[in-house]
Amino acid sequence: MTSLAARVQFAIFSRLVARAALVVMIAPSFVGAQQATPESPAAPTRAAKAAPSDPLIDVRRGTIPIIICAPHGGGDKIPEVSQRKQKPVDPPRGTPKWVTGADVRTRELAQKIVADLETRLGGKPYFVMARFHRRYIDANRAPEHSYEDDDAKFYYDAYHDAAAEFCAEVQKKFGAGLVFDVHGQASFKDEILIGTVGGVTVKLLLERHGRGALVGREGLVGRMLDAGLKVKPALDSETLNVAAGLNGGYTVQTYGSHRPTALDAIQLEYGTDLRSPEKLDDTARRSAEAIAGFYQAYFQRRKAAAAE
Ligand SMILES: [Zn+2]
Repeated sequence: MTSLAARVQFAIFSRLVARAALVVMIAPSFVGAQQATPESPAAPTRAAKAAPSDPLIDVRRGTIPIIICAPHGGGDKIPEVSQRKQKPVDPPRGTPKWVTGADVRTRELAQKIVADLETRLGGKPYFVMARFHRRYIDANRAPEHSYEDDDAKFYYDAYHDAAAEFCAEVQKKFGAGLVFDVHGQASFKDEILIGTVGGVTVKLLLERHGRGALVGREGLVGRMLDAGLKVKPALDSETLNVAAGLNGGYTVQTYGSHRPTALDAIQLEYGTDLRSPEKLDDTARRSAEAIAGFYQAYFQRRKAAAAE
């Protein structure tokens, strides 16, 4: 590695570590303690609001290099924070950027996938999932497109500080790993869209194992099909892009392996039918089967080889 690249990487890594330290400082108990109830003896003052004790996210430190995120599945109100109202427009295409609808049942889906992976793999995935509703904060956007009310910053920062901390930890401990960002879409009702910004956010996976690791028979696409799920991109697809707007958002673009995280980040967009109450368990089980096989083939094997 050139010294410049090393310096840049070190600078970014140091920033991640600094942000991680900040989380520990401002919210010493939130990792692994989701039940904390804020005490509210009287009408909250401005100062009291500045540091809520509950960041309204579910987070857990894991033991295997898989991080599951779910930014849009929360249903909770954020006390004293107003809902987002503006709908800024993306100038070139004129499409609305300010989406306030939740990805229904994706938090539950992500939790079920975590639980199933834990059973299959005998280790705990890390997770970061919003309990706050998207109408207050969109955690899958850059801060300037995420919230309007300054009091929402604490929650947004708590979410991304946790994600950044876990990415840095996985990189340090395991050298490689996976981030799955779980979402819902209504355009392809019985399909899962696998978004990697055309392969960009899984740069290292493709460099190490080729395109087949993503779209081949042994790759994630093949394993999803084997598990009985319909997916885009298609098996052995020429393009790694999926539908516009579902191709990979802020989270995978921030934590993907084209960045110094060295983790491969994949957005999973579940169609409406796959998230119905009747189908949710089945969808989670099939997804975990595919993800576990994919992980064992390209990540666990790599770790085992390194240990020999
Ligand atoms: Zn979403």
